[in-house]
Amino acid sequence: DEDLELLEHGEEDEDGVRYLPALPVIAIVGRPNVGKSALVNRIIGRREAVVEDVPGVTRDRVSYKGEWLDRRFTIVDTGGWEPDAKGIDASVAAQAEVAIDLADVVMFVVDANVGATSTDEHVVRLLRKANKPVFLVANKVDDARQEPEAAALWNLGLGEPYPVSALHGRGVADLLDQVFTVLPEISAVAKQEVGGPRRVAILGRPNVGKSSLLNKAAREERVVVNDLAGTTRDPVDEQIELGGKVWRFVDTAGIRRRVHLQQGADFYASLRTQAALEKAEVAVVLLDVSQPISEQDVRIIDLVLESGRALVLAYNKWDLLDDDRRRYLEREIEQDLHHVAWAPRVNISAKTGRHLEKLVPALETALESWDTRIPTGKFNAFLTELTQEHPHPVRGGKQPRILFGTQASTRPPTFVLFTTGFLDPGYRRFIQRRLREIYGFEGSPIVVNMRVRE
Ligand code: GDP
Repeated sequence: DEDLELLEHGEEDEDGVRYLPALPVIAIVGRPNVGKSALVNRIIGRREAVVEDVPGVTRDRVSYKGEWLDRRFTIVDTGGWEPDAKGIDASVAAQAEVAIDLADVVMFVVDANVGATSTDEHVVRLLRKANKPVFLVANKVDDARQEPEAAALWNLGLGEPYPVSALHGRGVADLLDQVFTVLPEISAVAKQEVGGPRRVAILGRPNVGKSSLLNKAAREERVVVNDLAGTTRDPVDEQIELGGKVWRFVDTAGIRRRVHLQQGADFYASLRTQAALEKAEVAVVLLDVSQPISEQDVRIIDLVLESGRALVLAYNKWDLLDDDRRRYLEREIEQDLHHVAWAPRVNISAKTGRHLEKLVPALETALESWDTRIPTGKFNAFLTELTQEHPHPVRGGKQPRILFGTQASTRPPTFVLFTTGFLDPGYRRFIQRRLREIYGFEGSPIVVNMRVRE
C-alpha cells in the first residue's frame, strides 16, 4: 500500500520536476555458464526458479524485484538464452546493448577459473563505450586460494574485479555494498516525468512494421529535437509531434537497431519488449494482417497485460489484405484476441500511411481510461446494484459477501473489494465485465483484488 501511495504522488527532484519513482535497474551480462542466474538468485534471495502464475510469460521473464538493506531495485538477467558456440559473440553483444540502454549499473560476470575469453573482450569494448558504471564480477571464486585468478582480470581494463562465489554467497555482500554506493535511488533511465509527453512503446514481432511506422510518423510529422537521457551512443527515445501533440516514443533505438541473431532472437525481442514497457504508459502492439496471428503476437500482448500498461492494437499492412484473408483475420481476432477485445483497434498501413492519423485518438482514449478514477461512492453504488441483481452463488452452504470496495489506484485502474470470503474467479470476471459495460475502460487493463475479512 505504501507503493500505491508513492505511485500516486511521485517524487520531486532538485529542479522541482515530478517523477514517478522507478526502481533503479541493475543488469547482469556475461557469457553462457559464467553463473549469471546463480548470481541473480543469490542477490534476490531466491532458491528456485520463480514460478509466475501468469500463463505464457514464465520463460520470457527477465526482470525481478530485489531488496538490499532496505533499498529496492530491479535486477535484469539478460542471459535467458544460451546460444551455441557460433552465436555467442552476437548474442552476448546484444545482451550488452540492452543492458547499457536500460540499466543504471551493469554487472559484467566473468568465470575467474576460465579467465577472459575473446567474447569477454568484445563485450568489454562495448561496455567501455557506454558511460554507465560497470562492475566486473569474477565469479566461481569459491575460496581464497582462487583469488589470484580473479586479480588477473584487472587486465580487462574495467577496474577492480570483485571476486565472488554466486553459488556459496562468498563476496556477494561486498559487491552489493559497492554497487549501492553508485546506484541511484530512482532509476535515471526509467524515471518518468509527470506531465511530460506521454510515453508510447511500439511493440510487435520482427517485421510487423515497427520501424516503418516510426519512420513514416517521423517523416510526416515533426520530430522534436530533444536531449533525452540516454546513452552516449544514441538517444534511446524519440519525441514526435503527432496530431498536434508531442509524444515520446520509448526505446526507438531498440527498434531502429537491426539485430541479426540466429539464436536467441525471440529472447532478445522479449527483453526489448519488457525494457520498453517499463518506460511506457501505453503500448501500440502491431500485428501483420498478411500473416496469421501467431503465438508470439499473443505473448507480446500478454506482456503488456502483465505490465499493466494501456494497450492499442494496430493491424498493419492493411494494403496487403484481400477479402479471403480478411475473413480469416476477423475469425482469428475473435479466437485469439478475445481477451483484449477492449483495446482500441486501428487498421493501418505504415507503407501507404493509411489511417495513421487514427492512432492518436486511440492512444488518447487508452490513456484516458488508464487514468480513470471512479469515486468510492459511485463504485459502491455499482457494487450494491450488481450484487442485488446477481448475488454470488452459494458455495458449501456459504455465500461470500462484498462489504465494501474502493479504487486503490489508477494506471491501471485497480479496485479492491473487501469480502467475507473468497469470490469465485468466475464471479470476479463477471465484476470486471460489468465494470467495462458501465464505465468502458477502453484500452486499459483493469485489476480487481480481494481482501478477505474472516
Ligand atoms: P520491424 O521489424 O517491425 O521494424 O518491421 P519493418 O518496419 O522493418 O518492416 C518489415 C517489412 O515489412 C519491410 O519490408 C517493410 O517495408 C514491410 N512493411 C511494413 N509496413 C508495411 C505495410 O503497411 N504494408 C506493406 N505492404 N509492407 C509493409
